[in-house]
Amino acid sequence: MKIRTFKAGAGLIASSLMLAACAPMQQTPAEPEHTKNVIMIVGDGMGPQQIGLLLAYAKQAPNSVIADGYTAFDRIAENGSMGISMTHANDNLVVDSAASATQLATGQLAGAEMIGANKDGNTAESILERAKKLGKSTGLVSDTRITHATPAGFAAHQSHRSLENEIAVDLLNNDVDVMLSGGLRYWIPASANDEQSDARQQLETLSEGSVRIKSKRKDDRNLIAEALEKDYDLAFNLDQMNQADGKVLGLFAYSSLPNAIVENQTKNDPDRTIPTLKEMSEKAINTLSQNDKGFFLMIEAGQIDWAGHYNDTGTMLHEMLRMNETLNYVLDWAEGRDDTLIVVTADHETGGFGFSYSANDLPHGRDLPGDVFKEQQFKPGFNFGDVSTLDKLYEQQSSYGDIFYSQFDSLSAEEQTPANLARIVNAETRFNITEEQAARVLATEDNPFYTEGHSYLGTKTVPKMDVNGAFFVYQTDDNRQNLLAREVAEQQSVVWSTGTHTNTPVLVFTQGPANATAPFGKVLHHTDVGQHAIEAMND
Ligand code: MG
Ligand code: ZN
Repeated sequence: MKIRTFKAGAGLIASSLMLAACAPMQQTPAEPEHTKNVIMIVGDGMGPQQIGLLLAYAKQAPNSVIADGYTAFDRIAENGSMGISMTHANDNLVVDSAASATQLATGQLAGAEMIGANKDGNTAESILERAKKLGKSTGLVSDTRITHATPAGFAAHQSHRSLENEIAVDLLNNDVDVMLSGGLRYWIPASANDEQSDARQQLETLSEGSVRIKSKRKDDRNLIAEALEKDYDLAFNLDQMNQADGKVLGLFAYSSLPNAIVENQTKNDPDRTIPTLKEMSEKAINTLSQNDKGFFLMIEAGQIDWAGHYNDTGTMLHEMLRMNETLNYVLDWAEGRDDTLIVVTADHETGGFGFSYSANDLPHGRDLPGDVFKEQQFKPGFNFGDVSTLDKLYEQQSSYGDIFYSQFDSLSAEEQTPANLARIVNAETRFNITEEQAARVLATEDNPFYTEGHSYLGTKTVPKMDVNGAFFVYQTDDNRQNLLAREVAEQQSVVWSTGTHTNTPVLVFTQGPANATAPFGKVLHHTDVGQHAIEAMND
């Protein structure tokens, strides 16, 4: 066998020498292009279905705000490569955002709910940490909290995603140059909860009253003061962010930033203090790109996932529009550059979302001009969904979360009636429910999955899920939102299969130097996505 291989090899060498000799001019092989910058954009929960919602809205809604129907996804797909990627964690079928971010960031398999550790529990170096070693600048931007699973997976190493106090310390120790998000509560000392404390006074002054000052730390570490010592510029509002120069830690909310409906409604408010996802991304890129050696930046559109968990289609559409706006900005910035790899993907799909045809409200027959229908009306047997639904989804005025937490739950106990819930839902959305439907949304049962001490399953009485209750794990109140979604499903032509994640393979869009994007154009696992991004990043 060895001899035959050798002969074949020798033949190949001989013929290529001959070819070279015959060639009129010897071409030097092109130098592989240089990938100085890597920007990874993660749509949390943004499966193909969620992208499909955006595409349907952009291209089919009669009054689409994307006038030409051309989305950022159309754009990157035309300029780069597309692949499809499995997302599962080690030994599992499905993944959570922590393990998925870890796999994307490190290229190594992780276990469920781990942060920055591989399947054996060892510290796994992330692409952000690798970039730092190469002398590049680094950044994390998220519209959730900076200590939440997705950003954490890129710059922290903890046994569980819930250890957000410890994650904040890791982020600071990692000296990430630009951090823009929410989640101030994990960065300030426990003593800040005392209104008379020095820490409280200092934080009120620094933040100019822009952010609620309340700590979730168990210790008295003041990571804000530590950040100042490490030469960070601090930002608690949009003005401060715009004025920041160099390393910047921007924490614009006590917990997460506003959802995309609120962001869209307040965009033109001159008193707005919280930057949009696009504005944070712009600040990050402008700051990081000052480094001649390049940068790594992760941008997360994190609340696509939350709308998915709640099965809140209208909010999810707005979250996808926020992603679209941000991605368009990044593509604008990258236009004409040949030194930047952009990777756009999701960590998993959330909700098992889809438009679906149904037996509800069957279509009436109508005449068609064509010859095939000369003697026959056009009358499909089922309701295949009307495109006007897309505009109605866009017109939702409040997320389901705000409908319950901000409005319904703020009513007195006696006022928390089905009639009042129906009134609020019918004012805030284009899909009306009856009092009877509202009563089903508010119905409760003994928790069939009660688990003492469990942070999500530890409540004895929970909203009543008639089917698939085991897949609606954020029981306590959120399931009212999922129940509301079920009541409007027929009107929306929408089905949701779960309150958690699915294993639907997610799309991977890349743009950049051809040698950097080529490996992404196939069937991948997210560890491959991470590895390819790390390998592409030159010093
Ligand atoms: Mg996330
Ligand atoms: Zn999720």
